[in-house]
Amino acid sequence: MQTADIPNATQAAAVDAIIRAEKIEKYYAQPSANRIQVISATDLSIVPGEILALLGPSGSGKSTMLRMLSGLSTPSAGRVYWHEQPIAEAEINVSIVFQSFALFPWLTVLENVEAPLQARGVAPEERRARSMKMLDTVGLDGFEAAYPKELSGGMKQRVGFARALVVEPEVLFMDEPFSALDVLTAENLRSELLELWANKTMPTKAVFLVTHNIEEAVLLADRIVVLGRNPGHIRTDFRVQLPQPRDRKSEAFTQLVDYIYKVLTRPDTAPAEVPEQQVKVRDQRQMRYQMLPHARPGGMAGLLELLLDKGGRDDIYRMADDLAFEIDDLLPIVDAAELLGFLKIEEGDAVITESGAEFANSEILRQKELFRDAALGHILLLRQIRRALETKSDHTVPEDFFLDMLDEQFSDEESLRQMETAVAWGRYAELFDYDSGRRRFVLPEAQDEGIAASEDVH
Ligand code: ADP
Ligand code: MG
Repeated sequence: MQTADIPNATQAAAVDAIIRAEKIEKYYAQPSANRIQVISATDLSIVPGEILALLGPSGSGKSTMLRMLSGLSTPSAGRVYWHEQPIAEAEINVSIVFQSFALFPWLTVLENVEAPLQARGVAPEERRARSMKMLDTVGLDGFEAAYPKELSGGMKQRVGFARALVVEPEVLFMDEPFSALDVLTAENLRSELLELWANKTMPTKAVFLVTHNIEEAVLLADRIVVLGRNPGHIRTDFRVQLPQPRDRKSEAFTQLVDYIYKVLTRPDTAPAEVPEQQVKVRDQRQMRYQMLPHARPGGMAGLLELLLDKGGRDDIYRMADDLAFEIDDLLPIVDAAELLGFLKIEEGDAVITESGAEFANSEILRQKELFRDAALGHILLLRQIRRALETKSDHTVPEDFFLDMLDEQFSDEESLRQMETAVAWGRYAELFDYDSGRRRFVLPEAQDEGIAASEDVH
């Protein structure tokens, strides 16, 4: 099965690229001889003059992309060029700032900043002078002799920035550099970084920022690339045309945040057009099978009941808080309910739909019926399994038949997880039985008629 390739609308100016990745992929070998594909063939260029933010849910491959683009790791396929020279053969000049600071605890602040200069063979005096100047620039004047453990998180990250900038990198890579900091410290550091960039205090030509924080991307970036997962691929890529300094409360700002939020929370629908004023760089492929979130029907029922209890609408982050859930645990349930048409996402709120409200209010048998209708109406894989069972004279189909099709789109491991979820949903809805011994789907005979009738709706 082929996934549709949408031609690129406009390509980033590849000629000027400092770093250019061509169809890079990453997969990891598995003991079972299967391999996990983390990044599917992706083109991406880092051009001068831009802060590029790479956004995506956790596990979508952001850090993997950063490592390949910065030369820290080699792609499994495809190529990365540094000024059009294969990156492995080029003399590259980049630095990386990590979320975890990654300072040497046994070195003083000054020695930490000097370390990369020392590694590059810069003479001691020059090394000291440049490091002192850089510490001054990042506001750490007077802390040269301190050790990392004596510093707050914000100050540690200032050392991280000083150490990255002291080598005057052409490209500055940052992997969630503000995520470990408290809100105010993070906000401070962001605006200071932006100031250094805008004043050209640092000779850096491009910044590549990995983040999962939408507002952070919209505050800082000239261009935003959103990654989808399983395997990682570019979902949308556009230039942000809002002037700096940006106002979080302005309409254009919130509009853009909403747009990105929608792209992130609807991994299975084609991204909508970027809001006016922003310039689309390109779209990549669309998925054919939706990615089923790994959520149980019972979990969805619980969520919908709660939502109904709250008057049918609630902020997703607040719900997670109220339930003492991690947002990453709640999101699959929200996504699944949305996929089935039981709720809608509006500006960060989950809003229950008519069918969702009916589902939440019904007895178990009616719930199964509603779930069955929703599954057949919205989930391609379940519809295909059901149809195949009805078509075949013996009303049974091997699971492998569908796994092969899923494999075209997902990693082997994810295909199995997708199938597991589909089986759980299909069984719950009594769309089919699953014979785990023979690994075959079977039409539940007793209910043939009833289900066939309910399918007329679609
Ligand atoms: P992100 O930074 O977006 O959170 P990562 O790039 O760290 O994502 O990881 C993407 C995916 O690759 C994850 O599913 C992760 O489990 C997988 N992954 C990362 N490193 C390895 C590895 N060495 N072996 C197998 N899988 C890996
Ligand atoms: Mg990461």
